[in-house]
Amino acid sequence: MAKKPSLRALREEVQGCRRCDLWKPATQAVFGEGLKRSRIMLVGEQPGDREDVAGKPFVGPAGRELDRGLEEAGIDRREAYVTNVVKHFKFEERGRRRIHQTPKRFEVEACRPWLDAELDVVEPEALVLLGATAAKALLGSSFRVTQHRGELLDSELAPLVSATIHPSAILRAPDDASRQAERTAFARDLAAVASVLARA
Ligand code: SF4
Repeated sequence: MAKKPSLRALREEVQGCRRCDLWKPATQAVFGEGLKRSRIMLVGEQPGDREDVAGKPFVGPAGRELDRGLEEAGIDRREAYVTNVVKHFKFEERGRRRIHQTPKRFEVEACRPWLDAELDVVEPEALVLLGATAAKALLGSSFRVTQHRGELLDSELAPLVSATIHPSAILRAPDDASRQAERTAFARDLAAVASVLARA
């Protein structure tokens, strides 16, 4: 059996990826972050503006919401592997601002081998898909996060698979009350995974 590459080698290799055009305007590819022995892997859509500059996933405002949800669920982020289905930031420029654009299906598919490689190396016990792009990429285009969030799903990707909203959805809530409700529901979804992991 071929030796698995290290996460470090993959992180270096992804910088040279040209499988789609998203690398052209982006600063760099943003590979996943976390330990190889992580029991839980969280997968979002793509790096955002801050992540593109920092070269690390979930370090901007959505990352702060993720940290908050993880903390409330009793999950130590340092013990989790955090990544995205697409490794380059897709955006359009409006003046000096770079506005997020949802990656197309062919871009998600082009990037899939990188996520598969991360799954192969980390082999997480629990896989949590954050938002529709990640969930559809891994569970099929008919999957609806709104209908199945927080459920334990039947999938060969990992022993325990679940999907919830992307933490950026919390930021888009129209007012404080709905933002708080989204935060509570997000933390509850993560806590459901944490409690199964704790019993495993
Ligand atoms: S987005 Fe993914 S597939 Fe496209 S160039 Fe970047 S790493 Fe490669």
